[in-house]
Amino acid sequence: MNMDPVEPCELCRLPGGELLWQDELCRVVRVGGDEGRDYPGFCRVIWRAHVGEMSDLSGADRAHLLALVFATETALRACYRPHKINLASLGNVVPHLHWHVIPRFSDDRHFPAPIWAKPKREASPTRAEVNSTVLRQAITQALAGEQGSS
Ligand SMILES: [Zn+2]
Repeated sequence: MNMDPVEPCELCRLPGGELLWQDELCRVVRVGGDEGRDYPGFCRVIWRAHVGEMSDLSGADRAHLLALVFATETALRACYRPHKINLASLGNVVPHLHWHVIPRFSDDRHFPAPIWAKPKREASPTRAEVNSTVLRQAITQALAGEQGSS
């Protein structure tokens, strides 16, 4: 792997969204701004160190990161009741390991296409955002369940 950028990458320099949960290895942020507008509850789970691929992590670290991805999914399902959750790890633009966890609704701007595709309709209907404290508690609770079941 050649992952030593001269300039620290965006996810090394910045949180990447509103910080909801973190430990020494990874964090969960809520994506805001233009990117998050049509997607209430759109979260990113970001590995702290600058690595490119899941296979760069040790088995224990992979399990830890995936437990947090699944906990975030569980929390978003409970808080937003979406029709579907999309999980995606792309990193083609920012090659710093992160997962997108995106609640999807059948009437959202891109459904059934991925959110990065050409839009299918003008805009998503307005949906209420869930309070950060509530979402943080839901992630913490779901993570305890993930770790208890492993
Ligand atoms: Zn980075």
